[in-house]
Amino acid sequence: MTCSGLSAKHGQEMSELHIIENGQVVITEGIIEFVGSSSEKYPVEHPENYEIIDATGKAVLPGFIDSHTHFIFGGYREEEFSWRMKGDSYMSIMNRGGGIYSTVNATRKASFEELKSAGKTRLDRMLAMGVTTVEGKSGYGLDSETELKQLRVMKELDMEHPVSIVSTYMGAHAVPEGYSEEAYIDYMLREVMPVIRRENLAECCDIFCEKGVFGTAESKRFLLAAKNMGFKLKIHADEIVNTGGAELAAELCALSADHLLQASEKGIAALSESNTVATLLPCTAFSLKEDYAKGREMIDAGCAVALATDLNPGSCFTSSIPLTIALACIYMKLSPEEAITALTINAAAALGKADSIGSIDVGKKGHLIISSFSNYRFLTYHIGMNCVERTIV
Ligand SMILES: [Zn+2]
Repeated sequence: MTCSGLSAKHGQEMSELHIIENGQVVITEGIIEFVGSSSEKYPVEHPENYEIIDATGKAVLPGFIDSHTHFIFGGYREEEFSWRMKGDSYMSIMNRGGGIYSTVNATRKASFEELKSAGKTRLDRMLAMGVTTVEGKSGYGLDSETELKQLRVMKELDMEHPVSIVSTYMGAHAVPEGYSEEAYIDYMLREVMPVIRRENLAECCDIFCEKGVFGTAESKRFLLAAKNMGFKLKIHADEIVNTGGAELAAELCALSADHLLQASEKGIAALSESNTVATLLPCTAFSLKEDYAKGREMIDAGCAVALATDLNPGSCFTSSIPLTIALACIYMKLSPEEAITALTINAAAALGKADSIGSIDVGKKGHLIISSFSNYRFLTYHIGMNCVERTIV
């Protein structure tokens, strides 16, 4: 299936996968040059320079795009997971100085090479599950030095690893000790973000807009300033408490509003009328034993929904695409077709890249998956299993 399109698909359009039976794709120098039926003999110059891959009997689809992760971090929080299973909440662990702050300490201590080597291992696993582009956020340093270190690690990995990386500055992940919310936002805008722009270290900016973290008014001030500096916007919105994050994302024309477990009807309506993608992270709700975001209702309301793993060391330590698909279909009631759209063209749109990735269309990057089964329904039916036989980048 090609998932053909150049922008996010809303509502019912999410069910259209644009399937070509017995198809053929020609990729020249990394760019898709032809897609169509294999009965047409597409004339390439110098056929001796091409590798022919026979995918007879297999479904071919665009590479998956994991549009929300925090995959560069130091240390792990396996102990905290067991506390949570006993009933402690994410916010109560955070208020005890655990949670994100323990990752911040470990990431500050980690060397560039340690972060890079762990990041590479994580990218290898993603690639094996068909991920060809991943978004990675900073946000585990809070101070300028560590945030820049995280972003520079991602820049090097992007150059060296087959998986493409879209970097997001998320210094606004938590308020560091010794700062007020307002003073920390001023610090980011003054000290950190100009360097990121100058060195081209991140395309997007993100903020944890949440009660007790960054309020809606401060989030708006931060995001408007980021937009003026040339960043594209993303928001961790309405995850634990409804704070009007979805409405804010739509108002600011953010690329995406992410999480949305508590998004109100008004918030969902605002997203459906905007170009902001509703990015849902079912593995996080699963890991935190929370109710899932209203994926079905959002699509029925006409939203463009994307799915992502939210890989991070605290609330959701998994980069499993099969688990994401299973939870989205079983608990958020997405159809197999919608889940695939949510991981391809809509995820590309959530990164502002629907013109170059996310579908098998002429002119886009040659990022493909050959699945081990004859049709895409196995991706949902073969629960939690990796159905990717080969990832092509
Ligand atoms: Zn996140």
